[in-house]
Amino acid sequence: AAKKEGGGKYRLFGRSVAPLMLERSLLKRGLQRALDGSEFVLHYQPKVDFHSGRIVGAEALLRWQDPERGLRGPVEFIALAEEMGLILPIGEWVLGEACRQAQRWHRAGHELHVAVNLSARQFQDPDLVAKLAQILAESRIAPCQLQLEVTESVAMERPEVGYAMMQECVAMGVGIAIDDFGTGYSSLAYLKRLPAREIKIDRAFVRDVVSDPDDRAIVGAVVALGGALGRRVTAEGVETREQFACLKEMGCDLVQGYWTGRPMPADAFEALLGTDRLFV
Ligand code: C2E
Ligand code: MG
Ligand code: MG
Ligand code: MG
Repeated sequence: AAKKEGGGKYRLFGRSVAPLMLERSLLKRGLQRALDGSEFVLHYQPKVDFHSGRIVGAEALLRWQDPERGLRGPVEFIALAEEMGLILPIGEWVLGEACRQAQRWHRAGHELHVAVNLSARQFQDPDLVAKLAQILAESRIAPCQLQLEVTESVAMERPEVGYAMMQECVAMGVGIAIDDFGTGYSSLAYLKRLPAREIKIDRAFVRDVVSDPDDRAIVGAVVALGGALGRRVTAEGVETREQFACLKEMGCDLVQGYWTGRPMPADAFEALLGTDRLFV
Protein backbone atom coordinates (compact mmCIF):
# COMPACT_ATOMS: atom_id res chain seq x y z
CA ALA A 1 0.00 0.00 0.00
CA ALA A 2 1.12 3.56 -0.67
CA LYS A 3 2.28 5.20 2.48
CA LYS A 4 2.87 8.86 2.93
CA GLU A 5 6.28 9.75 4.21
CA GLY A 6 7.81 12.91 5.51
CA GLY A 7 8.53 15.31 2.65
CA GLY A 8 5.40 14.29 0.75
CA LYS A 9 6.96 11.27 -0.99
CA TYR A 10 5.04 8.09 -1.63
CA ARG A 11 6.44 4.62 -1.49
CA LEU A 12 4.55 2.21 -3.61
CA PHE A 13 5.87 -1.29 -3.13
CA GLY A 14 8.05 -0.94 -0.12
CA ARG A 15 11.55 0.05 -0.95
CA SER A 16 12.25 -1.75 -4.17
CA VAL A 17 10.56 0.43 -6.79
CA ALA A 18 12.54 3.65 -6.57
CA PRO A 19 15.91 2.09 -7.45
CA LEU A 20 14.30 0.22 -10.35
CA MET A 21 12.78 3.38 -11.75
CA LEU A 22 16.05 5.19 -11.30
CA GLU A 23 17.80 2.36 -13.09
CA ARG A 24 15.31 2.60 -15.94
CA SER A 25 15.67 6.30 -16.39
CA LEU A 26 19.45 6.04 -16.28
CA LEU A 27 19.30 3.33 -18.90
CA LYS A 28 17.02 5.50 -21.01
CA ARG A 29 19.39 8.43 -20.94
CA GLY A 30 22.32 6.10 -21.49
CA LEU A 31 20.77 4.62 -24.60
CA GLN A 32 20.06 8.00 -26.15
CA ARG A 33 23.64 9.04 -25.42
CA ALA A 34 24.95 5.76 -26.80
CA LEU A 35 23.18 6.41 -30.08
CA ASP A 36 24.37 10.02 -30.33
CA GLY A 37 27.89 9.21 -29.22
CA SER A 38 28.42 6.02 -31.23
CA GLU A 39 28.88 3.76 -28.22
CA PHE A 40 27.29 0.82 -30.04
CA VAL A 41 29.42 -1.84 -31.65
CA LEU A 42 28.66 -5.06 -33.47
CA HIS A 43 30.18 -8.38 -32.64
CA TYR A 44 30.02 -11.18 -35.17
CA GLN A 45 29.48 -14.87 -34.62
CA PRO A 46 30.50 -17.42 -37.27
CA LYS A 47 27.86 -19.45 -39.06
CA VAL A 48 29.48 -22.62 -40.34
CA ASP A 49 28.30 -24.92 -43.12
CA PHE A 50 28.26 -28.51 -41.84
CA HIS A 51 28.89 -29.89 -45.33
CA SER A 52 31.98 -27.85 -46.22
CA GLY A 53 33.15 -27.02 -42.70
CA ARG A 54 33.57 -23.40 -43.79
CA ILE A 55 32.32 -20.12 -42.38
CA VAL A 56 29.52 -19.00 -44.68
CA GLY A 57 27.98 -16.25 -42.62
CA ALA A 58 28.29 -13.92 -39.67
CA GLU A 59 25.48 -13.01 -37.31
CA ALA A 60 25.78 -9.40 -36.19
CA LEU A 61 25.05 -9.07 -32.48
CA LEU A 62 24.65 -5.67 -30.91
CA ARG A 63 26.83 -4.57 -28.00
CA TRP A 64 26.87 -1.33 -26.07
CA GLN A 65 30.24 -0.05 -24.98
CA ASP A 66 28.91 1.75 -21.91
CA PRO A 67 31.65 4.05 -20.60
CA GLU A 68 30.38 3.51 -17.06
CA ARG A 69 29.53 -0.18 -17.07
CA GLY A 70 31.65 -1.75 -19.79
CA LEU A 71 30.38 -3.95 -22.59
CA ARG A 72 26.65 -4.67 -22.31
CA GLY A 73 24.59 -7.23 -24.21
CA PRO A 74 21.28 -6.71 -26.00
CA VAL A 75 19.12 -8.52 -23.45
CA GLU A 76 19.92 -5.67 -21.08
CA PHE A 77 18.57 -2.93 -23.30
CA ILE A 78 16.74 -4.03 -26.48
CA ALA A 79 13.33 -4.30 -24.80
CA LEU A 80 13.59 -0.80 -23.35
CA ALA A 81 14.90 0.59 -26.63
CA GLU A 82 11.88 -0.94 -28.30
CA GLU A 83 9.55 0.58 -25.71
CA MET A 84 11.17 4.01 -26.05
CA GLY A 85 10.94 4.03 -29.81
CA LEU A 86 14.74 4.08 -30.01
CA ILE A 87 14.88 0.71 -31.69
CA LEU A 88 14.26 2.16 -35.16
CA PRO A 89 17.32 4.44 -35.22
CA ILE A 90 19.42 1.82 -33.40
CA GLY A 91 18.26 -0.85 -35.83
CA GLU A 92 19.10 1.33 -38.82
CA TRP A 93 22.58 1.85 -37.46
CA VAL A 94 22.95 -1.92 -37.03
CA LEU A 95 21.80 -2.59 -40.60
CA GLY A 96 24.11 0.05 -42.06
CA GLU A 97 27.12 -1.04 -40.04
CA ALA A 98 26.61 -4.75 -40.78
CA CYS A 99 26.31 -4.05 -44.52
CA ARG A 100 29.41 -1.84 -44.52
CA GLN A 101 31.28 -4.63 -42.77
CA ALA A 102 30.01 -7.17 -45.29
CA GLN A 103 31.34 -4.92 -48.06
CA ARG A 104 34.79 -4.75 -46.38
CA TRP A 105 34.93 -8.54 -46.11
CA HIS A 106 33.74 -8.90 -49.68
CA ARG A 107 36.53 -6.58 -50.87
CA ALA A 108 39.02 -8.63 -48.86
CA GLY A 109 37.90 -11.66 -50.86
CA HIS A 110 35.66 -13.37 -48.30
CA GLU A 111 32.33 -14.69 -49.50
CA LEU A 112 29.82 -14.68 -46.69
CA HIS A 113 26.48 -13.27 -45.68
CA VAL A 114 25.77 -11.09 -42.67
CA ALA A 115 22.68 -11.83 -40.61
CA VAL A 116 20.95 -8.98 -38.78
CA ASN A 117 18.30 -9.39 -36.09
CA LEU A 118 15.12 -7.36 -36.40
CA SER A 119 12.77 -6.57 -33.56
CA ALA A 120 8.99 -6.45 -33.90
CA ARG A 121 8.81 -2.69 -34.41
CA GLN A 122 11.44 -2.72 -37.11
CA PHE A 123 9.81 -5.59 -38.87
CA GLN A 124 6.48 -3.78 -38.87
CA ASP A 125 7.98 -0.47 -39.97
CA PRO A 126 6.29 0.44 -43.27
CA ASP A 127 9.54 2.13 -44.37
CA LEU A 128 11.69 -0.95 -43.79
CA VAL A 129 11.93 -1.94 -47.44
CA ALA A 130 12.84 1.58 -48.55
CA LYS A 131 15.47 1.79 -45.81
CA LEU A 132 16.91 -1.57 -46.85
CA ALA A 133 17.11 -0.47 -50.47
CA GLN A 134 18.99 2.66 -49.45
CA ILE A 135 21.39 0.80 -47.14
CA LEU A 136 22.12 -1.79 -49.83
CA ALA A 137 22.76 0.92 -52.39
CA GLU A 138 25.10 2.79 -50.05
CA SER A 139 27.09 -0.26 -48.99
CA ARG A 140 27.08 -1.74 -52.52
CA ILE A 141 26.68 -5.32 -51.36
CA ALA A 142 24.57 -7.84 -53.22
CA PRO A 143 21.16 -8.15 -51.54
CA CYS A 144 21.73 -11.90 -51.09
CA GLN A 145 24.68 -11.10 -48.81
CA LEU A 146 22.21 -9.70 -46.28
CA GLN A 147 19.91 -11.88 -44.24
CA LEU A 148 17.31 -10.68 -41.78
CA GLU A 149 16.52 -12.76 -38.71
CA VAL A 150 13.08 -12.51 -37.20
CA THR A 151 11.89 -14.69 -34.37
CA GLU A 152 8.91 -16.87 -34.85
CA SER A 153 6.92 -14.75 -32.39
CA VAL A 154 7.78 -11.51 -34.20
CA ALA A 155 6.77 -13.06 -37.51
CA MET A 156 3.53 -14.27 -35.94
CA GLU A 157 2.61 -11.07 -34.15
CA ARG A 158 0.76 -9.77 -37.19
CA PRO A 159 1.03 -12.67 -39.61
CA GLU A 160 -0.30 -10.87 -42.70
CA VAL A 161 1.95 -7.84 -42.21
CA GLY A 162 4.90 -10.12 -41.55
CA TYR A 163 4.17 -12.22 -44.58
CA ALA A 164 3.91 -9.20 -46.88
CA MET A 165 7.12 -7.73 -45.48
CA MET A 166 9.01 -10.97 -46.05
CA GLN A 167 7.69 -11.19 -49.61
CA GLU A 168 9.02 -7.72 -50.34
CA CYS A 169 12.43 -8.51 -48.84
CA VAL A 170 12.69 -11.72 -50.82
CA ALA A 171 11.61 -9.86 -53.99
CA MET A 172 14.60 -7.55 -53.54
CA GLY A 173 16.88 -10.52 -52.94
CA VAL A 174 17.37 -10.20 -49.18
CA GLY A 175 17.22 -13.49 -47.27
CA ILE A 176 14.99 -14.22 -44.29
CA ALA A 177 15.69 -16.57 -41.41
CA ILE A 178 13.24 -17.63 -38.73
CA ASP A 179 15.12 -17.26 -35.45
CA ASP A 180 14.60 -19.21 -32.22
CA PHE A 181 12.42 -21.69 -34.05
CA GLY A 182 10.33 -23.94 -31.86
CA THR A 183 9.76 -21.44 -29.07
CA GLY A 184 6.79 -19.64 -30.64
CA TYR A 185 3.42 -20.69 -31.90
CA SER A 186 3.63 -20.66 -35.65
CA SER A 187 1.41 -23.19 -37.30
CA LEU A 188 2.81 -25.46 -39.96
CA ALA A 189 0.41 -23.87 -42.43
CA TYR A 190 1.99 -20.49 -41.76
CA LEU A 191 5.50 -21.88 -41.94
CA LYS A 192 4.71 -23.38 -45.32
CA ARG A 193 3.83 -19.94 -46.68
CA LEU A 194 6.81 -18.12 -45.17
CA PRO A 195 9.41 -17.27 -47.77
CA ALA A 196 12.24 -17.85 -45.27
CA ARG A 197 15.34 -19.56 -46.61
CA GLU A 198 16.62 -20.58 -43.21
CA ILE A 199 15.16 -21.99 -40.00
CA LYS A 200 17.24 -21.62 -36.84
CA ILE A 201 16.47 -24.24 -34.22
CA ASP A 202 16.42 -22.61 -30.81
CA ARG A 203 19.23 -23.59 -28.53
CA ALA A 204 16.73 -24.91 -25.98
CA PHE A 205 16.47 -28.03 -28.17
CA VAL A 206 20.19 -28.22 -28.80
CA ARG A 207 21.34 -28.16 -25.19
CA ASP A 208 20.41 -31.76 -24.36
CA VAL A 209 20.23 -33.14 -27.89
CA VAL A 210 22.98 -35.67 -27.20
CA SER A 211 21.25 -37.26 -24.22
CA ASP A 212 17.54 -36.48 -24.55
CA PRO A 213 15.59 -38.58 -27.08
CA ASP A 214 12.73 -36.07 -27.07
CA ASP A 215 15.00 -33.22 -28.13
CA ARG A 216 16.48 -35.48 -30.79
CA ALA A 217 13.02 -36.25 -32.08
CA ILE A 218 12.22 -32.53 -32.26
CA VAL A 219 15.46 -31.65 -34.04
CA GLY A 220 14.93 -34.57 -36.41
CA ALA A 221 11.43 -33.33 -37.21
CA VAL A 222 12.64 -29.79 -37.94
CA VAL A 223 15.45 -31.12 -40.15
CA ALA A 224 12.94 -33.23 -42.09
CA LEU A 225 10.54 -30.30 -42.35
CA GLY A 226 13.27 -27.95 -43.52
CA GLY A 227 14.44 -30.47 -46.08
CA ALA A 228 10.94 -31.03 -47.41
CA LEU A 229 10.18 -27.31 -47.62
CA GLY A 230 13.56 -26.46 -49.12
CA ARG A 231 14.81 -24.41 -46.15
CA ARG A 232 18.28 -24.52 -44.65
CA VAL A 233 18.25 -25.66 -41.03
CA THR A 234 20.66 -24.07 -38.57
CA ALA A 235 21.44 -25.39 -35.10
CA GLU A 236 21.95 -22.55 -32.61
CA GLY A 237 23.86 -22.61 -29.35
CA VAL A 238 26.17 -25.54 -30.13
CA GLU A 239 28.73 -25.57 -27.34
CA THR A 240 30.39 -28.99 -27.41
CA ARG A 241 32.06 -31.37 -29.83
CA GLU A 242 29.38 -33.97 -29.01
CA GLN A 243 26.54 -31.62 -29.91
CA PHE A 244 28.36 -30.62 -33.07
CA ALA A 245 28.84 -34.25 -34.15
CA CYS A 246 25.28 -35.20 -33.27
CA LEU A 247 23.68 -32.31 -35.18
CA LYS A 248 25.90 -32.85 -38.18
CA GLU A 249 24.96 -36.52 -38.21
CA MET A 250 21.28 -35.57 -37.98
CA GLY A 251 21.51 -33.53 -41.14
CA CYS A 252 21.44 -29.91 -40.00
CA ASP A 253 22.87 -27.59 -42.67
CA LEU A 254 24.49 -24.86 -40.61
CA VAL A 255 25.88 -24.60 -37.11
CA GLN A 256 26.37 -21.65 -34.85
CA GLY A 257 27.54 -21.61 -31.26
CA TYR A 258 30.44 -21.25 -28.88
CA TRP A 259 31.97 -24.45 -30.23
CA THR A 260 32.59 -22.95 -33.66
CA GLY A 261 33.14 -19.44 -32.34
CA ARG A 262 31.85 -16.91 -29.85
CA PRO A 263 30.63 -13.51 -30.99
CA MET A 264 33.75 -11.37 -31.54
CA PRO A 265 34.77 -7.93 -32.81
CA ALA A 266 34.99 -7.47 -36.58
CA ASP A 267 38.80 -7.51 -36.74
CA ALA A 268 39.00 -10.80 -34.81
CA PHE A 269 36.39 -12.24 -37.15
CA GLU A 270 38.39 -11.16 -40.17
CA ALA A 271 41.52 -12.75 -38.69
CA LEU A 272 39.56 -15.99 -38.28
CA LEU A 273 38.38 -15.80 -41.91
CA GLY A 274 42.01 -15.36 -42.93
CA THR A 275 43.01 -18.68 -41.35
CA ASP A 276 40.74 -20.61 -43.75
CA ARG A 277 39.95 -22.88 -40.87
CA LEU A 278 37.77 -25.93 -41.47
CA PHE A 279 35.31 -27.05 -38.82
CA VAL A 280 34.89 -30.80 -38.99
P1 C2E B 1 19.69 -14.46 -31.14
O1 C2E B 1 19.46 -13.73 -32.40
O2 C2E B 1 19.04 -15.78 -30.99
O3 C2E B 1 21.27 -14.56 -31.01
C1 C2E B 1 21.95 -15.63 -30.43
C2 C2E B 1 22.32 -15.36 -29.00
O4 C2E B 1 22.85 -16.55 -28.42
C3 C2E B 1 23.41 -14.31 -28.83
O5 C2E B 1 23.23 -13.65 -27.58
C4 C2E B 1 24.67 -15.17 -28.78
O6 C2E B 1 25.75 -14.53 -28.12
C5 C2E B 1 24.17 -16.33 -27.99
N1 C2E B 1 24.91 -17.56 -28.26
C6 C2E B 1 25.52 -17.92 -29.40
N2 C2E B 1 26.09 -19.13 -29.29
C7 C2E B 1 25.83 -19.57 -28.05
C8 C2E B 1 26.14 -20.78 -27.35
O7 C2E B 1 26.79 -21.69 -27.85
N3 C2E B 1 25.67 -20.86 -26.06
C9 C2E B 1 24.95 -19.88 -25.48
N4 C2E B 1 24.53 -20.04 -24.23
N5 C2E B 1 24.62 -18.72 -26.13
C10 C2E B 1 25.05 -18.58 -27.40
P2 C2E B 1 23.25 -12.06 -27.48
O8 C2E B 1 24.32 -11.50 -28.33
O9 C2E B 1 23.22 -11.73 -26.03
O10 C2E B 1 21.87 -11.65 -28.14
C11 C2E B 1 20.65 -12.01 -27.55
C12 C2E B 1 19.50 -11.65 -28.44
O11 C2E B 1 19.40 -10.24 -28.60
C13 C2E B 1 19.63 -12.19 -29.85
O12 C2E B 1 19.25 -13.56 -29.88
C14 C2E B 1 18.68 -11.30 -30.60
O13 C2E B 1 17.36 -11.73 -30.45
C15 C2E B 1 18.85 -9.98 -29.85
N6 C2E B 1 19.72 -9.08 -30.62
C16 C2E B 1 21.07 -9.10 -30.76
N7 C2E B 1 21.50 -8.11 -31.56
C17 C2E B 1 20.39 -7.44 -31.96
C18 C2E B 1 20.16 -6.32 -32.83
O14 C2E B 1 21.07 -5.73 -33.44
N8 C2E B 1 18.87 -5.91 -32.98
C19 C2E B 1 17.81 -6.56 -32.36
N9 C2E B 1 16.57 -6.09 -32.58
N10 C2E B 1 18.00 -7.61 -31.57
C20 C2E B 1 19.27 -8.06 -31.36
MG1 MG C 1 19.52 -14.15 -34.30
MG1 MG D 1 18.38 -17.28 -32.02
MG1 MG E 1 17.48 -15.69 -29.08
